[in-house]
Amino acid sequence: MSLSTLLRLFILGGLGLVISMPANAQSRNPVYWDVHDSTRTRPPVVEPGPAPADPPTAPSDATVLFDGGDLSKWEHPDGSAASWTVENGYMEVKPGSGPIRTKEAFGDVQLHVEWMVPTTVEGEGQSRGNSGVFLMGTYEVQVLDSHENQTYADGQAAAIYGQYPPLVNAMRPQGEWQTYDIVFHRPHFDEGGTVVTPARFTVYHNGILVQDNVELTGPTAWKERPPYEAHAPALPLRLQDHDNAVRFRNIWVRELE
Ligand code: MG
Repeated sequence: MSLSTLLRLFILGGLGLVISMPANAQSRNPVYWDVHDSTRTRPPVVEPGPAPADPPTAPSDATVLFDGGDLSKWEHPDGSAASWTVENGYMEVKPGSGPIRTKEAFGDVQLHVEWMVPTTVEGEGQSRGNSGVFLMGTYEVQVLDSHENQTYADGQAAAIYGQYPPLVNAMRPQGEWQTYDIVFHRPHFDEGGTVVTPARFTVYHNGILVQDNVELTGPTAWKERPPYEAHAPALPLRLQDHDNAVRFRNIWVRELE
């Protein structure tokens, strides 16, 4: 075989690889990365601008889950009364008390949540301002202090934890309110319990698109990506206690089904 033929084969082979594996898909799709891969590209930082002085009010067809008053719509997973602190119009994680979940169950939703990480910077990586918004108690949009705080890309704020880093880092500094606007479509299962339509997320962080209709590989987990397990079409929304005093306010949901 002549050198030029070899060269041509090499180039064609290379082209085939490029065509079968678009750079875009390769950089975003979790199957190309190990869970919490430390070499995965960290998203660029984008300044979202300051938080609005007055938080937006819930639309008329929304179910208000928390308006600053009390935790009557929430409980701990064992059914006991939610014991997180409520003051000054927000709720705050009481470290060690465990997660809280809504008493009502939801499937496909549009969800608005505002959150704030502690002003005093303590810890680093996953230990700084960690909480989470778990749709159906199972699929996490990560809450973390990602302002000048390095961690693995699929674990920073607005990541679909363990699967998709956000498109950009739209984090405001510590002590400022952040917003998540989340569109979630639940997974569907056949009668045998096999997933036929995966769960999907679209997420805006401080008004900036950070998850663009991504398809989940399965439930959220730490250091692994377990397969789907069939579950009910509606389940409670859960907020995580990760031992950090993260605050939440103005939480409302619109059911899409
Ligand atoms: Mg978390």
